Amino acid sequence: MFDTHSSIISHTLANADAPHVRQHDFLTAGTEVTFLDTGVIKFEPNTACDTSLVISCAVHGNETAPIEIISRIIDDLLAEEQKCGQRILFILANPWSMVAAERFVDLNMNRLFCGQWQHQDLTLKEVKRAAKLEAYVANFYAEEPVTVTQRFHYDCHTAIKDSARARFALYPFVADRKIPDSQKAFLDQADIQTLLLQQRAGNTFSSFSASTQQAQSFTLELGKVKPFGENDLSQFSGIDGALRKLISGDALPNRSARPVDCFSVCHEIERTSEQWQFLVADESANFAEFLPGQLIWQDGEHEYRVGDEPEYLVFPNGQVPIGQRAGLMLRKLS
Ligand SMILES: [Zn+2]
Repeated sequence: MFDTHSSIISHTLANADAPHVRQHDFLTAGTEVTFLDTGVIKFEPNTACDTSLVISCAVHGNETAPIEIISRIIDDLLAEEQKCGQRILFILANPWSMVAAERFVDLNMNRLFCGQWQHQDLTLKEVKRAAKLEAYVANFYAEEPVTVTQRFHYDCHTAIKDSARARFALYPFVADRKIPDSQKAFLDQADIQTLLLQQRAGNTFSSFSASTQQAQSFTLELGKVKPFGENDLSQFSGIDGALRKLISGDALPNRSARPVDCFSVCHEIERTSEQWQFLVADESANFAEFLPGQLIWQDGEHEYRVGDEPEYLVFPNGQVPIGQRAGLMLRKLS
């Protein structure tokens, strides 16, 4: 499938700019494999299945651990050492940033979905790719057989920052929906005990599949950014095991065995002017706890203090341009 290359990673790195010739094959068990585009490969079992599963990584090309995990799952599916019991679309989203070993090349791809790419320079590779990825995902779901009743999408990342909570999931905002217990159970299986429920529509890859494709989707932050080959993949065994179980078609628990803590945003921090002061170190770990009354930012007579219960900070960055988001304050839901 990958010509002379040993894996989809090396194939993608070598073919970021090469024209892709679509390939098609059948495994001995009857699974149909379609190599749709560079970094995009689809598996469809010839048995009745109930789930269409999109597994993506490398939206940020330097977030290598999930790419390595997913590449191994693909290898095992091709070698038929991993059972294929569901339809799966694997996506290595941003080949050019993988080659550059950077988060992105021209634009942060995870702000280009939900049609946001239409408002950008359409000659940029990441902009064109975001448009294509939306089409691949939409087609994948549109082509599902009638037996399919569930659409899932797990977009796998690693964070730049340390986190007080090793792994966490973001659940995109869609009006009038509540997260199903079965998805909390999946997160628990993946050793993810922290969930941030978003309250505003976003333009991430997982927002796209949630809001336009009716998928249960998540952005998963699975650990810390490291270069290829330097990851301790044993720290990612939870997500690896949970995905493999789902792919095999085995039943997953309907309820989580351990609690999954849910958080919601109570304040969006914005850098409002030149004299705006962020009174929290940029190096603060994600989910660092702040006590009631603590001053978070100040701009002249405007300020923000933690309310009457503890709050938690994620994605702090005081260096953003004026008018942009410098972090989110969260409250833990009971
Ligand atoms: Zn990322």
